[in-house]
Amino acid sequence: MNSGYEMAIGLEVHVELATRTKIFCNCSTEFGCPPNTNICPVCMGMPGTLPVLNKEVVNKAIAVGIATNCKIADSFRFDRKNYFYPDNPQNYQISQLYEPICKEGYIEIGSDERTKKIRIHEIHMEEDAGKLIHQDVTGDTLVDYNRAGVPLIEIVTEPDMSCPEEVNEFLDKLRLCIQYIGASDCKLNEGSMRVDVNLSVRPSETEKLGTRTEMKNLNSFRAIGHAIENEAKRQVEIIESGQAVELETRRWDEDRQCSYPMRSKEDSKDYRYFPEPDIPPVEVDSDWVKRVKDSMPELRDEKKVRYKNEYSLPDYDIDIITGDKRLVDLFETAVSLGANPKKVSNWIMGETLRIIREHNVTDKYIVGSAAGLARVIELVDKGVINGNTGKTVYEQVLVNQADVDTFIEENGLKQISDSNTLTEVIREVLTENPQSVTDYQNGKVKAIGFLVGQTMKKMGGKASPTEVNRILTELLSNV
Ligand code: ADP
Ligand code: MG
Ligand code: ZN
Repeated sequence: MNSGYEMAIGLEVHVELATRTKIFCNCSTEFGCPPNTNICPVCMGMPGTLPVLNKEVVNKAIAVGIATNCKIADSFRFDRKNYFYPDNPQNYQISQLYEPICKEGYIEIGSDERTKKIRIHEIHMEEDAGKLIHQDVTGDTLVDYNRAGVPLIEIVTEPDMSCPEEVNEFLDKLRLCIQYIGASDCKLNEGSMRVDVNLSVRPSETEKLGTRTEMKNLNSFRAIGHAIENEAKRQVEIIESGQAVELETRRWDEDRQCSYPMRSKEDSKDYRYFPEPDIPPVEVDSDWVKRVKDSMPELRDEKKVRYKNEYSLPDYDIDIITGDKRLVDLFETAVSLGANPKKVSNWIMGETLRIIREHNVTDKYIVGSAAGLARVIELVDKGVINGNTGKTVYEQVLVNQADVDTFIEENGLKQISDSNTLTEVIREVLTENPQSVTDYQNGKVKAIGFLVGQTMKKMGGKASPTEVNRILTELLSNV
């Protein structure tokens, strides 16, 4: 950031809620279906149809409100936001302007010594629009209405963030808590979380915020960081040259690393909002809020305490595992299948993180590997396979969802502990390495490591290291 200036950043975050059906009809919300198969007269805005509010949408919005310290409204209603766009068959969007479901919350960022509250102005519910698909070759535009009517919440913050790092941390925390609740998978690259960045700059030590711009089309944390740096610089240059920043909506182009104006900023009066006449106001009594609260799963802070008390895991491990919902699911499922929590944690901190990084394992495969992990740990414990083979097998589980027992069987990976077989091989190794034997007998105890290695090599890695050590020590002391 240019010296002499400060940024103010406020976010508008759209999150697609993971409900089975749409917000005002019974159509499925499933992603990736053939175009225009999840539609009906209601979400197509046909005359004579009426919307019916999906209660699960409200439950999830309330849950996100509770998790972000919001006040839950005693009653809420919907408003009609009027605009024409081909992806919106009703020619209006049902949203909330005047009485949103949640207000005045916050998320705390930073750590022990320096924390900062990022205030949430409101969270409101609305319906998503369809999707336009532009055909490069023919120049045609097609429209898929499957997404029309998928429930969204929009989380609007106050302009409390002042650098990309704070934005990153806020979004990370917001995403994690929504994932914990199970309200959404929050994937920026798939559009289930979409972030608009409002940004202004002002001379340091001045109070009054500058004129902001809004940036859209930011589909990764990287793009958000780049867009912020770039836009702050652009605004400072405008001000330095004696001109004024224009209130407008801009589109960020991550490939070309620049933004361009999309439209002048619309105002709420432009949309001719009026109370949605087809949906009556809804009252939310304290019982309703309590029911949602009671049914909410454990959040991160509670989990941290429990992992420590119940499993005595190191703080570092707890921090890593609870910081990633996929690891939480992997850990808890493996433990629920009877695996030892400390061992599961070790396998996550070591092998899992490495394999995920090296092989780009999908979320589904990570969570789907719990049973395999529990089985690998069990087989290593029982001595059926050794620890190193366990790592090889587990990698196959994560990367290919291999079945542990089948993979071990098919590849002949069972550990050999039969002492006759091992003794025979070890005798060979001793004959082939007289120098190491002499070293050992002259007091160089470490020489045994080399001999163990040579034995393992001859056995294709399948020997039981404990047995090899035992037999070697025995033979060496008898030579
Ligand atoms: P509108 O009604 O035009 O959408 P809002 O007041 O709802 O405007 O603000 C939209 C977003 O812009 C919010 O996230 C808010 O924090 C942010 N915002 C508002 N004013 C500024 C400003 N001067 N600088 C940076 N962000 C701002
Ligand atoms: Mg707004
Ligand atoms: Zn429908």
